[in-house]
Amino acid sequence: MGATITYVMLAEDPRKDRGDNGTLYYEVMVALEGYVGRHMQDLEPEDYLKSNHDPSNPPEPVEPQVWRMTADQAVYELRLRDGAAVPDEPTLNSLAAELNRTAAYVGEEYRIEDDLIVGSSPYNPEWKFNSFDVGGRFVDLFTEIHVDDWPREQAPCANCDGKGEIPPESFVLPRALRLTAAARNANDNATPCPRCGGKGYRTLVEPPPPPEDSDPAFSPDQMLKILNNGTEAAEPQAFVDLRGTWQYLPVKMIEDEDGRRYGETDLTLFKAALSAAPPGTIVVPIEHDGG
Ligand SMILES: [Zn+2]
Repeated sequence: MGATITYVMLAEDPRKDRGDNGTLYYEVMVALEGYVGRHMQDLEPEDYLKSNHDPSNPPEPVEPQVWRMTADQAVYELRLRDGAAVPDEPTLNSLAAELNRTAAYVGEEYRIEDDLIVGSSPYNPEWKFNSFDVGGRFVDLFTEIHVDDWPREQAPCANCDGKGEIPPESFVLPRALRLTAAARNANDNATPCPRCGGKGYRTLVEPPPPPEDSDPAFSPDQMLKILNNGTEAAEPQAFVDLRGTWQYLPVKMIEDEDGRRYGETDLTLFKAALSAAPPGTIVVPIEHDGG
């Protein structure tokens, strides 16, 4: 559903020691340098394409972007890549080989480091954003108040005008003389309004009160609580772990009691990373445009 919230884990809160010099925005920018759409920094990605490469007229050398992928993330990226296939046995070696085989840019290379694949290229073909805000439009979701305790307002039901019942249709003729069977069978009594269940009003949930801090960052424990609240804040597109690995979160299909199917963000990977995070870790929500 176009959710563009991503959570970025940082090893420590930059505001703690550096006073006004340390900002969440700057630290997140540094952590995510490998995922920025570099065309926003006046780089012409086309100049670096292998297919456009002219050895006699090479493009300006640039500091490469570096980014990291888990095996799962590499599978995800290969599925999106033109002309690439996910290997039958997706090991780090076979995934890195396929990424190298289908690399589009001069100098785009993938190597294995511990349990990750490290990409290096003048231009990250899987860039994730052009720009981002800390918190952004999601900031109101981060309140200490549980979603059940958000303010509620009772509004008169527009369907029944607050009366709780639907008046019967009015007819000129008495029942026996009406011209159609439907009219003869019509209910001459008021019926309870289906929309408000006969109450005459509907309960509307107000937006939660604004958080005290407009530059939000959370401890892993707080983050787990927020995820369990089940608001839109529990539907991140991705998270970035302490190693700087961008990890998309899969959507799993759920079926409710009435057989309706809907997608729900599978938070397993993120919750595991939060549970394993060392003390001092903070989690910063960012809103970003899409890559
Ligand atoms: Zn009603």
